[in-house]
Amino acid sequence: MTNRKLIVGNWKMNPGTLAEAKKIAARARRIATTLEHTDAVICPPFVFLGALVPKKPVKQFHIGAQSAYFEESGAFTGEVSVTMLHDIGVEYVIVGHSEERARGDTDEIVAKKVKAVIEAGLTPIVCVGEASRDIEGASHYDVLKEQIKNSFAGVPKRVGRDIILAYEPVWAIGAKESMLPEQIYEMSLFVKKVFSDAFGAETAVEVTVLYGGSVNYRNAADIISIGKVDGLLVGRESLNTVGFVELLKAVDGMKQQ
Ligand code: PEP
Repeated sequence: MTNRKLIVGNWKMNPGTLAEAKKIAARARRIATTLEHTDAVICPPFVFLGALVPKKPVKQFHIGAQSAYFEESGAFTGEVSVTMLHDIGVEYVIVGHSEERARGDTDEIVAKKVKAVIEAGLTPIVCVGEASRDIEGASHYDVLKEQIKNSFAGVPKRVGRDIILAYEPVWAIGAKESMLPEQIYEMSLFVKKVFSDAFGAETAVEVTVLYGGSVNYRNAADIISIGKVDGLLVGRESLNTVGFVELLKAVDGMKQQ
């Protein structure tokens, strides 16, 4: 954790053309160069990545992939390796997004991907989050705990510092409203506590925790200041060029905590 904020845009399977992708990326890159306390990462679909990696590095602007496969090379039709991503200048990889988990990525696969991403010298943004909240029995804490524990099974303790955690309650993704900032604070503490069981308290204090789920330019600053997270994982709003620019400005303009 640093005082800098990290805003990650997950474009999912959008937009439909390279021309549009270049336009959205150019706007994000332009505003990013003016940011003082914030870094921006955009995660476009694989096919656009090569065209969107800046020719000259920009300190506050980076490119991430939405996924990667854990094997180095071979007969894995349709997959993309971490080495390939590293080779074209990608720096971050989203791992274990709930939409990938829903298509079959188990915690075990997530753990293999985390290891592969780190070994390739890239930074994994590891998504965790409960599918629903059990208001009466509070069983979502156990579900989340198991998911976090298993998603890092076999990941060496020494690489804990290289991991970014994205707490994304699945029910808040693509929804009308985000989770309440007060609840985000409580859940981010819980996520850190479980992370500390696996990687140690010192590492957990340092780890970057993002919140994701229906973030927009209006709620972003409150989520960071009241939710006390280090940044945001943003879906829909990251494709809205005006909204994403406003979001970056709102976060960067916050009083430093
Ligand atoms: C996401 O896809 O990770 C996400 C948080 O989406 P949205 O911001 O649209 O809810």
